Amino acid sequence: MATIDTLPPISAVIKKYELNAKKSLGQNFLLDLNLTAKIARSCKDLAKSTIIEIGPGPGGLTRGLLSENAKKIVVIEKDARCIPALTEISEFYPGRLEIIKGDALTYQISSDTELPVHIFSNLPYNIGTTLLTKWLDPPEWPPAWSTLTLMFQKELAERLIAQPGSKEYGRLSILTQWRSDPRIILRLSSKEFFPRPKVDSAVVQISRLKEPRFPAKSSTLTKLVAKAFNQRRKMLRTSLKSHIPNVVETLEKANILPTNRAEDLSIEQYCNLAKIIDQK
Ligand code: SAM
Repeated sequence: MATIDTLPPISAVIKKYELNAKKSLGQNFLLDLNLTAKIARSCKDLAKSTIIEIGPGPGGLTRGLLSENAKKIVVIEKDARCIPALTEISEFYPGRLEIIKGDALTYQISSDTELPVHIFSNLPYNIGTTLLTKWLDPPEWPPAWSTLTLMFQKELAERLIAQPGSKEYGRLSILTQWRSDPRIILRLSSKEFFPRPKVDSAVVQISRLKEPRFPAKSSTLTKLVAKAFNQRRKMLRTSLKSHIPNVVETLEKANILPTNRAEDLSIEQYCNLAKIIDQK
């Protein structure tokens, strides 16, 4: 393994600070610093950006980012046991790493930074979807971030990039692709993590679009797709009956067959339907 920095290997850091993985915090650590450097390299302007990393743990991804020349990283970690390990990294890279002991669920990205903001995380699986949904639906668009580079369980990653008609296509595919471009940049076997989880993972890079792909009101679209996919096997005229008055007429007005199912509609069709709902 090539040396990324001259700090001890992550396995030694875990041992030194007795970081026994806690399930409640979704802790599965990456040990291979070549791998974390590879994830870091997926962001082309690390040296001209502010990086926010959620859940740095013992610092594997943080070290990958710093060794790849990230100018400034802010890390938010809930587990106090990880702070001394992260402090060692910040001493190794003076002035480049800011450590916040806190909860990512309540952390607000500051929008006053002049540099582009890129968010990285090997997300704790138990709060991954909540954080993603929050980042995808800020009070105003475009959001404070330019890209999100996130490790997910493989199945969830596939859902984010899924196309209409596939079994993976759903609420998160639409809400992600409506205003961003998601792509899978790396697939990882579960053996890359310690402790080893039951499922494989994938890193998704989500690049925001300046404008939504199709105009629609976010709250209307979000409620609509939630209702539609709540009963994905049913025809839309049934699943949306309680949500849209005169459902058949409204679907036809949007050029949608009332017999279509949730997974049949494109993002554009959902946006058109959301617009018609708002005009009523
Ligand atoms: N980034 C490290 C790596 O790749 O090896 C650790 C990833 S581990 C899957 C998830 C990390 O998120 C853990 O360090 C955990 O303590 C932290 N975490 C869990 N919930 C959090 C929260 N609400 N806010 C901030 N960090 C959290």
